[in-house]
Amino acid sequence: MAKVPAHPFASALKTFKTASGGAGKYWSLKELAKQYPNIDKLPVSIRIVLESVLRNCDGQKVGVENVEQLANWQPNAERTEEIPFVVTRVVLQDFTGVPLLADLAAMRSVAAKLGKSPKTIEPLVPVDLVVDHSVMVDYYGTPKALDLNMKLEFQRNNERYQFMKWGMQAFDTFGVVPPGFGIVHQVNLEYFARGVYKAADDNAKVPTWYPDSLVGTDSHTTMINGIGVVGWGVGGIEAEAAMLGQPVYMLTPDVVGFELTGKLREGVTATDLVLYVTAILRTEKVVGKFVEFFGPGAASIAVPDRATIGNMAPEYGATMGFFPVDEMTVAYFKGTGRTDKEIERFEAYYKAQGLFGMPAPGELNYTKVVRLDLGTVSPSLAGPKRPQDRIDLGHLSTKFSELYSKPNDANGFNQPADKLKIRYPLAKNGQSDDSEAPAPAAGAPRQVVEMVANRSTKAAAHVSATAPVAPKGAVTIGNGDVLIAAITSCTNTSNPSVMLAAGLLAKKAVEAGLTVKPHVKTSLAPGSRIVTEYLEKAGLLPYLEQLGFYLAGYGCTTCIGNAGDLTAEINEVITENNLVAAAVLSGNRNFEARIHPNLKANFLASPPLVVAFAIAGNVMTDLMTEPVGKGKHGKDVYLGDIWPTPQEIDANLRFAMNAKAFRANYDKVKTDPGKFWSSIKGTTGQVYDWPTSTYIAEPPFFEGFKMKPAATNPGFSGARVMALFGDSITTDHISPAGAIKESSPAGVWLKAHGVPKADFNSYGSRRGNHEIMMRGTFANVRIKNLMLPPDDKGTQEEGGLTLFQPGNEKMFIYDAAMKYIAQEVPTVVFGGEEYGTGSSRDWAAKGTQLLGIKAVVARSFERIHRANLVGMGVLPLQFRGADSWQSLGLTGHEKIDVVIEGELKPQMDVKLVVHRPDGTHQEATVRLRIDTPIEVDYYKHGGILPFVLRQLLAA
Ligand code: SF4
Repeated sequence: MAKVPAHPFASALKTFKTASGGAGKYWSLKELAKQYPNIDKLPVSIRIVLESVLRNCDGQKVGVENVEQLANWQPNAERTEEIPFVVTRVVLQDFTGVPLLADLAAMRSVAAKLGKSPKTIEPLVPVDLVVDHSVMVDYYGTPKALDLNMKLEFQRNNERYQFMKWGMQAFDTFGVVPPGFGIVHQVNLEYFARGVYKAADDNAKVPTWYPDSLVGTDSHTTMINGIGVVGWGVGGIEAEAAMLGQPVYMLTPDVVGFELTGKLREGVTATDLVLYVTAILRTEKVVGKFVEFFGPGAASIAVPDRATIGNMAPEYGATMGFFPVDEMTVAYFKGTGRTDKEIERFEAYYKAQGLFGMPAPGELNYTKVVRLDLGTVSPSLAGPKRPQDRIDLGHLSTKFSELYSKPNDANGFNQPADKLKIRYPLAKNGQSDDSEAPAPAAGAPRQVVEMVANRSTKAAAHVSATAPVAPKGAVTIGNGDVLIAAITSCTNTSNPSVMLAAGLLAKKAVEAGLTVKPHVKTSLAPGSRIVTEYLEKAGLLPYLEQLGFYLAGYGCTTCIGNAGDLTAEINEVITENNLVAAAVLSGNRNFEARIHPNLKANFLASPPLVVAFAIAGNVMTDLMTEPVGKGKHGKDVYLGDIWPTPQEIDANLRFAMNAKAFRANYDKVKTDPGKFWSSIKGTTGQVYDWPTSTYIAEPPFFEGFKMKPAATNPGFSGARVMALFGDSITTDHISPAGAIKESSPAGVWLKAHGVPKADFNSYGSRRGNHEIMMRGTFANVRIKNLMLPPDDKGTQEEGGLTLFQPGNEKMFIYDAAMKYIAQEVPTVVFGGEEYGTGSSRDWAAKGTQLLGIKAVVARSFERIHRANLVGMGVLPLQFRGADSWQSLGLTGHEKIDVVIEGELKPQMDVKLVVHRPDGTHQEATVRLRIDTPIEVDYYKHGGILPFVLRQLLAA
C-alpha cells in the first residue's frame, strides 16, 4: 500500500476544547505563526483563507509555497501570486444553478459516451440550490397574490423544476430549497451557515474542524461576510470547478480596512449606511480587493446590518465586505436557531484560532484604511441609474429635476426641461394635462386601493400572466411618478430593523389616514418566511397590506427584474410621451431596464422609504419639507409624523429573533416542501435523457470533446468589430435576465417553437437552453452599440444591434454573429471602463463565446466577468494607459488582428493591429488579462469546463 506523505505542516494540527468539555482538532494559525510571525498581524479574512491553504496543503493542488506566500502577505506588495482556495461548500440560485446542473449533466453524458462511470462526475463539497429567482410579481395588492404568483411560477417553470428533481436524485451532495422558502443569501445566512465544518468522511473520534467558506453563483453571496464567513460570487463555470474539487484561484488580494466609529443617528437605517459605504468605496477603487470592517463602530452594529453591508460588496466593487466573528455573531446564531452544540463549537474554534472579536484600530495591517463616522450618515437613496450614486433624501427632488434634462453622458435623461411637469391621463388617446402638480391624485381615496385589490382578485379565477386592468378616470401619469414600489431583495429583507421600520411606518401612515397613489404597483417579497412571521406577530403585516404591500412571493422578484409588467395603459402613456417614470425599491441594483423596460429612473431606498414614496407617489415630492400626503380631514402628514423611533423598532425586534421559529421554518424544507413542489415529477437515473424542451437542452460546450485538447493559437487576424460600447457595460446588458421581447431573436425562436408570448418567461429562467441564451446575448433593450450613428437629436439607438461588415447592414447582433460564423470570420467587441460590471452571470461569457467573439478589448474589466471570459476561452484584452477604442478612432468598419508572440503568459503584452478601410493601419499594445498560470491552462484547454472534465475522466 502506498504511503500517504506526511502533511508538510503536521505540527500545526492541534486540539481545541469546547465550554462543555468536548474536543476537536484544527489547523492552528497560532502554531503556524511560530514559523511565520507575520500571521498575527494579518487581516482576519486573509487568515481564514490561509487556514484553508494550510489544511489543504498536499503538494499537488496546494503547495508549501502557497502557504508560505500567504503567511508572508504584506499590505502593499505587488500582487503576482495566486492563491488556491478550497472552499467548504457552494451555494446556487436557480437562474445560475440550472445551467450549472445542465453542464454537470452534459459532463455525465460525455463520461457515459466515453465508457466511463457517470458517477465520476459528482460534487465533492455540499451544494445547495435555492429556487428564488423565478417568481414574478404578476399579481399584487391582493391577499391571493402569493398563491397566484406561485401557481404561475410553477406553470412557467415546470420543466426546469423537473430537471432539478432529476439532479436531486442523481447527485449525492446536491440539495434544493424549493420555491416559496426564500432568497438564497438570506437562507444562507439564516440556515445553511452552520459555523464550523468537518469533512463528510471524517469519522475520527476527535474530528478536524474548519471554518465555513463558500463560493456562490450570485454576486451577492458576500452577504454571508456579515457573519464572518469568507465567500463571494463566482460565475457558474468557476462554481462547477469548485464543486468538482478544484481550488478557486485568485490573485493575492489587497485588503482595505474600513474603520467604523460612532453611532447611527435616530432615523438613519442600515440601508442609508450601506449606500454611504458604497459611494465611499466606489471612489476608493476596491475592485479585486477584500474590504474588512473593524473598530468600535463595526463592533456596535447588529449582524443583519453587517450582512446588508456585506451584500453590496459587488456594488462597491470589492471581492468581499467582511466582518470578523464576535459576540454579536454568536448572538445572531442563537437567535436564528443554530443548536447549542454548533454555537459552542463555533465560538471555541474561533477563540482557539485567535480569530474571535472585532479588531481595534492599529491591531492589524491593512493595505489602506478608510474611515467613516456612523454619526455622519443621513437618510439616502441611490440612483437613478447606478447604486453608487447616493443622494441625500432632501436632495432627491432637485436631483431628479436636474437629471431630467441633462445629457445622457452626464447620467441624465436628455429631455426638454419644459416637459418635466406635464401630466398625462391614463385613458387612451387622452390629451395632456398641463397642471403643474407633481403629486397626482393627492390623498387618493381608499377605494382606489381597494379597486386595485379587487381587480386582482377577480383575475384569480383563471391564472394567467395577463396584467390587471389599469385604474382609469382621474388618474394621470407624469415624470418622476413612482410606478413600482417594492419591498424586495435579500439586501434589506434579511434585516429585521428595516423591515419592522417599514411595518411601523405603514401602521402610522394608515392610522393617519394616508393611502398609496393609485398608479403605484406595490409588493412585499421577503427573503424568508421568517419575515412575514415576525411582521404578523408584531401586528404590522395588516398595515402594510392596507397600503397594498401584500405578500407577492418569497424570492428575488423586483430585485432581479421580475417586477412583472405594468398595465398596458401605463406602458402606452410612458412610451408615447417618453416619460421618465420611477421605481423605488429596497434592492441593490438599478441599472437601466433591470427593473422594468419602461422605467428609466430607479431608486434604491430603505423599506420604510419605499412605503413613504408609494404614498407620496412621485420622487419630486421632497419628503424632508413637503407632506407625504393628505391624511384624515385633509390634514398634511409629514415623514416625521410617521417615521418610527428606534425605541419602537427595538421593542419589536424580540419577534424577529426567535430560534424556535427559525428551526420550525427550515425543518419544512425536508418535511413539508409545499404542495406545488411535491407534485413535480422528475425523471430518474444517473444520466439525463434530455427530453425536448424550450427550457433545458444539452449544452454544446463539449461537442467533439477529446481527452487531449487541440493545440490553440490564441492570435487571429481579419476580425470584424461586432460592437463598440461605452463605459459600465453590465452583464445585464450582455446577457439580460428579464423579459424576452417578441421581436427579438429569442422571441422569434420561441414563437417558432410554439411558445406563446404569455409563456416566454424570462431570459434568466431559460438559461438551461443555449438556443435562447445565444439569441439573448447583447439583447438588452437599453444597450447602445456606438457603431450605430445617433439620430438628428443626438440620441443613440438602443437594443442589441450592429452594422454587419462589409455593407453596413443593420441587424441584430445574433444574426450578424451567425453570418460571421458561417463565413468563418472572427469577431471582436470593444468596451470602456468596468466592462462586465453587475451581477455575476456566466451566460454573459458563454453567450459571447457561442457568438464566435474571440476577444473583448476594454479599458477595464469587472473581476468575475473577466474570469468567466477566460473560463470560456474568450480573450480579455485591456487597453494600456489612456488608450481606448475612441483614441484609436475606431468606427466599426475596421479589421482587427490580435498578435500574440511566443508562449502565452499571464498579463503579457499583446499587439492589436487595426486595418482601416482606406488601407492604412495602426498598432496598439494591450495587456492580456489572463491573470494567472492556471487561467493559461484553462484557456489552452478551450475553457475551464473541458479542463476539469479531462482531469476527472483521467483520474
Ligand atoms: S434578492 Fe436581489 S440581490 Fe438578493 S439574490 Fe435575489 S437578485 Fe440577488
